[in-house]
Amino acid sequence: AVNRTPEIQAARLKLPVCGEEQTIMEAIRNNTVVIICGETGSGKTTQVPQFLYEAGWSHPDSDNPGLIGVTQPRRVATVSMAKRVAQELNLTDKEVSHQIRYDATVSAKTRIKFMTDGVLLREMSQDLLLTKYSTIIIDEAHERNLNTDILIGVVSRVLKLRAELSREDREKIKPLRVVIMSATLRVSDFTENKTLFPVVPPVINVNARQYPVAIHFNKKTPLDHVGEAYKKITKIHERLPNGGILVFLTGQNEINQLCKQLRKRYPALPPKATKKQVKKEEQAVELESKQVNEPAGKADIEDEALELGDNQVEEDFDLESDDDDDDIAEGFEDEELEDVKDAPLHVLPLYSMLPTEAQLRVFEPPPEGTRLCVIATNVAETSVTIPGVRYVVDCGKSKERKYDIETGVQSFEIDWTSQASAGQRAGRAGRTGPGHCYRLFSSAVFDNEFEKFSTPEIHRMPIEGVVLSMKSMNIDNVVNFPFPTPPPRESLFKAEKLLGYLGAVNTTTKRITGFGQTMSLFPITPRFAKMLIIGQQHGCLPFVIAIVSALSVGDPFIQDYHLDENQPEDSDDEDVGRRELHNINSESVAEKERRKLVRKKYYSSQMKHAGLDPSSDILKLLNVVGAYEYAGATASFCEDNFLRPKAMEEIRKLRRQLTNLVSSNFPDVDVCLDPKMKPPNAVQLKVLRQVLTAGFIDSVAIRQDVLETGGGKGVRYKNSRNVVYKLLWSDEEAFIHPSSVLYSQEPPAMLVYSELYKGGKTWLKGVTAVESK
Ligand code: ADP
Ligand code: MG
Repeated sequence: AVNRTPEIQAARLKLPVCGEEQTIMEAIRNNTVVIICGETGSGKTTQVPQFLYEAGWSHPDSDNPGLIGVTQPRRVATVSMAKRVAQELNLTDKEVSHQIRYDATVSAKTRIKFMTDGVLLREMSQDLLLTKYSTIIIDEAHERNLNTDILIGVVSRVLKLRAELSREDREKIKPLRVVIMSATLRVSDFTENKTLFPVVPPVINVNARQYPVAIHFNKKTPLDHVGEAYKKITKIHERLPNGGILVFLTGQNEINQLCKQLRKRYPALPPKATKKQVKKEEQAVELESKQVNEPAGKADIEDEALELGDNQVEEDFDLESDDDDDDIAEGFEDEELEDVKDAPLHVLPLYSMLPTEAQLRVFEPPPEGTRLCVIATNVAETSVTIPGVRYVVDCGKSKERKYDIETGVQSFEIDWTSQASAGQRAGRAGRTGPGHCYRLFSSAVFDNEFEKFSTPEIHRMPIEGVVLSMKSMNIDNVVNFPFPTPPPRESLFKAEKLLGYLGAVNTTTKRITGFGQTMSLFPITPRFAKMLIIGQQHGCLPFVIAIVSALSVGDPFIQDYHLDENQPEDSDDEDVGRRELHNINSESVAEKERRKLVRKKYYSSQMKHAGLDPSSDILKLLNVVGAYEYAGATASFCEDNFLRPKAMEEIRKLRRQLTNLVSSNFPDVDVCLDPKMKPPNAVQLKVLRQVLTAGFIDSVAIRQDVLETGGGKGVRYKNSRNVVYKLLWSDEEAFIHPSSVLYSQEPPAMLVYSELYKGGKTWLKGVTAVESK
């Protein structure tokens, strides 16, 4: 029934996973959950769906007529793997289909369906039992994305349901099978979790042949990893024997930049091969065979030590480089290839936004006489295997979705990957023979700054965001949800309660409300999302967007000029001077005078921004965000106003992003980013204070004397110094922080705060007075 071409047949036979076909199919027949672990490139993604297909699964007349579903965390692999499997089976994309958010080839004839895990989760909110499917293969489980984790949890419940229902009526409902596939990393989170899988699922290890890879650390860690990668590639290409080069960078722009540089230096069109070149190639082959015979060495960090005392021959590089003397550390020492500068290099980019056709080019053999060089993001780490790679150049970094645990803001940041990821990357060089991995960072950085494993996404996200996403997928019981690595129950419970306060979740049914659905569209913490949605009256939205952006990024004011927070009582300038003198005894009088002036300027700038509405620190923030934009978002504005330029820039970016999100999600709301935004009028200020109160409804503090008089007037105070507040839900004592605009005024009876600061006493920061009716 399966009609593969001889080439495909031959290529399949070489894949380690094909040696385990019997074991795998037997395990799937006898168990509801099976875990398959294997090195990247061993054939899991392309072959396991075919095993099922060939055994008759998904055939309408078989015992298991449902679709074979395969989930992927990344779109790039979803599309390219579906294509590859269709090609291997000699079928069309109607039969082996893919579905990603904005694109699908699914048809009535579909037998195997590749999709992102997000797509399957959305499907499940309509069809929880996954009745369309006979098998769900969850791929790349080691990546531990939030969606993958949630999917594994939900599916573990569906398995039980499907089993029960099929016992009642085997004709109508068949049991479901689940296959979890992972690179060789931490499977114990899945196997040793009894809540998730009460019966320990069998783990099939696919032993792939992995040749040794010599690891070469840089002596120093350069800031410009793109430039460093360029240098390293030229050295490899010009001095080392045949073999593909795979380079890991962090993103599209870097990749395109490097591709351009490399193509310029090594033009794609090979100049006519001269005799000299042919000879060089012969030499290269010779050298290569020599190289294979010598042990390529383990991950020898000693390479770094080797370099000491050894003098090496400086070779002729086009690029000046100040640290070329670590050649030995890089494993270039015994190469005596002549200069082959003009040999062509077949440079290909690989990142997720690249069109599929372009992505698939990395699998084709490079043109005769050229060397393949793929510049990729971490898609090439485990999701996509490029044949013939012998050298890996790893910048050690990746662009990752980051969350601010406090504010829930998502951003994409470039940071070190984990040691486990670096290991995966290095492993790419040892698929076809011994290889080399060049790390563009030092072993000290690797040892001290890389985490062992990357933390599962669920533990990097603010919990109320996780809970809201799950509710938006109609998963109501989050507290008892079988997560592979569950967050603390207490924090799940608290998050659910907060969502109740905010109106995102119905407090009795625990189900998401329409309002909550809207909130879940924003990449910010639910409380800020709420402010955005309710802040649409009286033309307040642009202000609310600015406020939410500022709150999300965090206080942009430089704090150095504040008083010692532990001793707010002595709040005069002299005290600050005294504190500083602890450190700088020899400070000159003139210097002190200068500082005094600076502090004066600081306070007057603070007063200026507070002037808008002296009853809220947050409105002071709004004022400063508006003024910054009005002044052209310049660095000098930041300097004059004691602002952190980076924070202001981030606020600005988030403002733009939120404005776009609001426009695209609420077509009838007309909002744009006005660089000359006028300050809010009196009515708007009132609305804004209400919006702030609603957003911080769980963070209320009441003056103790007012509480004691049962809501009466209480004592009259001139300012907030030593005035005791009680936190509404915990009854804890707290005080308005001296940095607040409210500090020097009559303290309000009730306020909401955006931040609690514990230092000696509990301080209330980011305060807004709640208006008495
Ligand atoms: P795993 O999932 O275990 O990492 P894969 O099934 O993705 O392994 O890959 C198995 C092999 O198939 C690899 O050697 C890879 O290079 C090859 N391969 C995957 N996609 C293609 C393609 N589109 N063209 C040619 N070869 C491919
Ligand atoms: Mg795979």
